[in-house]
Amino acid sequence: MKSRAIFLDRDGVLNRPVIRAGKSYPPARVEDLEIYEGLSERLQRLKDRGFILIVVTNQPDVARGTTRKETVEAINRLIAREIPAIERFIVCFHDSSDGCDCRKPKPGMLLAGAADFNVDLKRSYIVGDRGSDVERPASLWVAAPSSLIARTRNRRLPIATTGFSRRMKR
Ligand SMILES: [Mg+2]
Ligand SMILES: [Zn+2]
Repeated sequence: MKSRAIFLDRDGVLNRPVIRAGKSYPPARVEDLEIYEGLSERLQRLKDRGFILIVVTNQPDVARGTTRKETVEAINRLIAREIPAIERFIVCFHDSSDGCDCRKPKPGMLLAGAADFNVDLKRSYIVGDRGSDVERPASLWVAAPSSLIARTRNRRLPIATTGFSRRMKR
């Protein structure tokens, strides 16, 4: 039997984004990381219900040279320590111009996570705070996960309190 996964965006979903001039950015330093309160317990409950929790995150600031890869990974390690229910972090370090297969909304990270954990994508979910996180990738039209926007940029809305009811058809 294949498993079900919840693919989680990182910034704006697990941790508070840094807002500058109305735009949201990932924390550029480990010290700036603020994980949303109560998330660990809520995600543990989803794990207990059989979901594999996989973080899929675009970190193009690494390709742009404004953030070091080591910083992104140090932040991921801290999140992993605080939220042990998460099974895996999958990161795209590229920018659009690199033409990689992993930068969301491309499906590379979803496919990698699905292969690693024998995931049935049709019965899985993507959670994000931007349209591009939950956009159904063209190459996943057949086996696309359901998409959710769990949190908007400036609102604090812990994932589990949305009840996954705002399912978006794209
Ligand atoms: Mg985000
Ligand atoms: Zn990539």
